[in-house]
Amino acid sequence: MNRFAALLLGATALVSTAVSAQDSAPRAPEPKLIVAISVDQFSTDLFNEYREDFSGGLKRLANGVTFPNGYQGHAATETCPGHSTILTGSRPARTGIIANSWFDPSAGRPGKDGKTDYGVYCSEDTTVAGSNSSNYTVSPNLLKVPTLGDRMRAVNPASQVVAVSGKDRGAVMMGGHNTTLTMWWDGKAFRSYAGSEAAIPKGATLINNRAKAAIDKPARVKLPAMCASHSRAVAIGGDATVGTLPQRKPGDARAFRASGDFDALTMDLALAAFGEKKLGRGPATDVLAISLSATDYVGHTYGTEGAETCTQMVALDATLGRMFAALDKSKVPYVVVLTADHGGHDLPERNTIQGLPAAERADIKLMPQGVGPVLAKAFDLPEPAIMGDAPFGDMYLSAKIPAAQRAAVLDAAIKYYRKHPQVEVVFTRDEIAATASPSGPPEDWSLIQRARASFNPSRSGDFYVALKRYVTPIPNTSFGYVATHGSPWGYDRRVPILFWWKGVAPFEQPNGIETADILPTLASLIGLDVPKDEIDGRCVDLVAGAGSNCK
Ligand SMILES: [Zn+2]
Repeated sequence: MNRFAALLLGATALVSTAVSAQDSAPRAPEPKLIVAISVDQFSTDLFNEYREDFSGGLKRLANGVTFPNGYQGHAATETCPGHSTILTGSRPARTGIIANSWFDPSAGRPGKDGKTDYGVYCSEDTTVAGSNSSNYTVSPNLLKVPTLGDRMRAVNPASQVVAVSGKDRGAVMMGGHNTTLTMWWDGKAFRSYAGSEAAIPKGATLINNRAKAAIDKPARVKLPAMCASHSRAVAIGGDATVGTLPQRKPGDARAFRASGDFDALTMDLALAAFGEKKLGRGPATDVLAISLSATDYVGHTYGTEGAETCTQMVALDATLGRMFAALDKSKVPYVVVLTADHGGHDLPERNTIQGLPAAERADIKLMPQGVGPVLAKAFDLPEPAIMGDAPFGDMYLSAKIPAAQRAAVLDAAIKYYRKHPQVEVVFTRDEIAATASPSGPPEDWSLIQRARASFNPSRSGDFYVALKRYVTPIPNTSFGYVATHGSPWGYDRRVPILFWWKGVAPFEQPNGIETADILPTLASLIGLDVPKDEIDGRCVDLVAGAGSNCK
């Protein structure tokens, strides 16, 4: 071989190395189906605690492109605002979904027990005669922005969008205004909008029958071996305890909701729709949005660190494993993103015996029903003088307060909260409105920036109250809920954001991204144009190598 031929051979070898390196270089997925999952109250803390123990669907997701410190960055860390960010690219300030329920002090309606209802439920059709915040017709009308599915169907009506959830607001906020099918659990069965019965999968009848059987005659739940160390009774008042695995009583639909069986049936419904509607097999890319609610009900009913949540994590992992098996079998090219609508925090009774003595329950005097009479007496006002549905969050002055008195009443109400030792800070609506929409790492946002991210001038209150860290805003345990979320603190804001697709080159990014980043990221995978000024999020590069899915 002469020198020239040797050089040529060398060059060829170089070229072929380069080609094969390019072939195996990490690439963005090209999905025909986007599966977007919200696990209600699946905090970063829970993900981290159980991460090494997962063996099913969550193990796969933990080994994809993982952002363990994702953020629902806003202050109002509740179900409806959280679900509204996941597939809209927008924070609650823009989606308009500032809470599960907010108040309209000027528009009273007949409510329960003959009382006037000033509340508005986030997924309520307020135009229906006789509607109120607790007895309503489910609707996406109050969501002010389009979802991923809405945007895809506007470009190509052949795209199918299916949303299934254990809660009406979970399905509505992830599905959007123009879905192929929206289904939710109504307390007794999975159902859809009136008039859309033709779209309900045939398999739904069987699933509803199985749900009824599971409520009527629950199967015995076994404590998984890995949960034995979590099993310890914690007294919560009276004879009641939490922490050890309960057995459901026949006919107890609330206990069914707080069980892995509930998620399993929600997933069965999603998979029935996937099969019957041939999602991912049509001319356009489709969306399957799944919101699994049981983790939230378990957290509220029993707290997050006992045998109940551990058992729920095992069940959730298995349910997601079953989903992956069904998707794999179909051969449909899919991408999965899983996150949560908000995080969560354990109950104070367990926190105080597990290394967090500062944990406590909120003083009942912080409830609007505690402050209202004080203000009514001082200013000679009709009740309710002040409206809100918790001892924190958005508070509204009654529309019946005369204009000349409003500034003084507001000042007195704010002083009442500010002097309470459990209150961290109070912001007026003017202070929040004057704050710029936050930018930069969500982990560094100040409290007022967090409040700004869930402030909408047409729906937010006259002032906003944040309780101190570790104060649980449930004054006592007598209503069946012992633990919750909703605060601007990290335990309620941090959620994992996990992507997986076949052939993914895994990597982990421990720094914060926002759930509002999910929409522009998914849009980039399917060439969907989303004007930057219409959203708050940014496209996140999912490609481990030099390439990028983001333009
Ligand atoms: Zn909740």
